[in-house]
Formats: sequence, structure tokens, C-alpha cells
Amino acid sequence: MKNLTVKAKCRRCGREAPAEQFVLHHQYRMMVCPECVKEGKQHTNVHYELRKQKELEAKQKPDEKPKPAGWDADDEYLERAARQQSKEPKAEIERISKDMIRYKCQKCSYRFTYNTEKKIPARCPYCSRDIQLT
Ligand SMILES: [Zn+2]
Ligand SMILES: [Zn+2]
Repeated sequence: MKNLTVKAKCRRCGREAPAEQFVLHHQYRMMVCPECVKEGKQHTNVHYELRKQKELEAKQKPDEKPKPAGWDADDEYLERAARQQSKEPKAEIERISKDMIRYKCQKCSYRFTYNTEKKIPARCPYCSRDIQLT
């Protein structure tokens, strides 16, 4: 009886195996024997387990990340915005009576009472800036 099984030599491990059992292995990018396929599977599994372990470790680790890079920039931006706001003094108006208000000059910060009925004084008595009641 003639043995019809064609044997082929595995290019990877050099072992001989029935040619029909050879498969194209995506990892080795070549035709390999069944033994190499088995090894390859074990290989992948090891990698998979390691990856899973690393993922678990990453999850278990407390979040010790430093504050994101944008944090300080935002903080600085807010601070700058606040400073810019304070640079533009607003008229401070405080109502004293029906026709009298306490007014703080936008330019020189001079405080004086302003008669809203008679519109007196028309300007800041100190720096002559127009009264702005907005
Ligand atoms: Zn092989
Ligand atoms: Zn003034």
C-alpha cells in the first residue's frame, strides 16, 4: 500500500506534517504546520491575557493623573478676564432718595450726590467727566 499522504516540511519549525493540514497563518504570514498553529494560538492567548491584566491594573490604579494641561490656562484666563473687568470701572450708583443718588465718577472715582431731577451737577465736580447713568 502506498501512503498517499503528501508530507511537507514546515518552513517555520522544520517539522514534517501532512500537506493538507498546513494552513496559512495570519501571524506568521506563511503556510505552517498544525503544530505551529497550536503554538501560535497559545502565543496569542498569552498576549491576550497580558493585555487583560494590564487593563485591569489600569482600572485599579487610582487616578493620579496631574491636572490636565488646560487647567492652569483656564484659570489664568478667568483671572485675566476678572482683571480686565476691574480695569473698566463702572459708575457706582446708589439711590439715596427719589431724586438723589450717590454717584461715583467713572474716571476719577470721586463720589458725590447727583440730583436726577434737576440733573445737577452735569459733570463730575472733580474731573468734569460727563455723568453717565447707564
Ligand atoms: Zn511548524
Ligand atoms: Zn471725576
